[in-house]
Amino acid sequence: MIKKIQEIIESLQETSELNRLVDLDGRKIYDEPLVSIASGYDPLFQDYKNIIGDFHLTPEEVIRNTEKRSNLKYLEGELSVICWVLPFAKHIIAANAKKDVLPSIKWGHAYINGEKFNNLVRSTLEKYFAKKGILASAPVIAAEWRRITDLPGGHTSTWSERHALFAAGLGTFSINDGFITEKGIAMRCGSVVVNKKLPIEERKHKNYMGNCLFASKGICGMCMERCPAYAITAKGHDKVKCKAYRDRLLGDFLHDTCGLDILPNYCGLCQTGVPCESTNPMKNDRT
Ligand code: SF4
Ligand code: SF4
Repeated sequence: MIKKIQEIIESLQETSELNRLVDLDGRKIYDEPLVSIASGYDPLFQDYKNIIGDFHLTPEEVIRNTEKRSNLKYLEGELSVICWVLPFAKHIIAANAKKDVLPSIKWGHAYINGEKFNNLVRSTLEKYFAKKGILASAPVIAAEWRRITDLPGGHTSTWSERHALFAAGLGTFSINDGFITEKGIAMRCGSVVVNKKLPIEERKHKNYMGNCLFASKGICGMCMERCPAYAITAKGHDKVKCKAYRDRLLGDFLHDTCGLDILPNYCGLCQTGVPCESTNPMKNDRT
């Protein structure tokens, strides 16, 4: 199944204009994807209600919501979460790595258009399983998805793609609140919950920040130096400071320079020009 999902995503990457910088040089936004699968009954998903908040949905809640607007019935014992990573292409990472106050124009376009492509992957996979008579839902494009903005620690939502990726063994979190995969931290990611029991991948990471050099070995910290908002310290990522920087500077930059009217969530300077940008810096030293 993993191979099939990879083929579907790679085919979209070849054919869809959404995977290209159509307003710039037309080059591709993403490199080849990574795909993995978690059990929908992994106890981690229940733990996330404590770690993130009670509003965070379990895969079963996601699929039960989907069942309400479908002719299909939920089959108990058959639940998987298919997760993917879309690594930003090297030319996009390299352009942003040269910047130190505002992101590159390429990053602005790749971030916004790249998420449209990610949504295309989500909806394509939903349709792929629906055609087979299998309930499927990509939680972040489902009607129930909500952004939660009134928490003291900053915004979150009813489904965290990165937490789903962790359950599927695709990498770990990092001191800058990113997610470091085998193809690095500069990426977008997604997931779809399917009402089918699929072979799952063994989770190799024991430490939830095991791929981050600072969290694992107390070295590196380059993302702290790169952050123009001083939002990353040894204590972690200050989402409120990060968002304030985005709101203050990025809106004008994207509107005036890139011709885009949507704000990306992140300038990405802490994800480029750093050792983890396109690889797992702990790959030979897993914790
Ligand atoms: S730049 Fe270094 S400290 Fe920051 S997330 Fe990457 S590995 Fe961790
Ligand atoms: S996205 Fe930008 S502002 Fe936010 S933590 Fe990273 S470097 Fe700092």
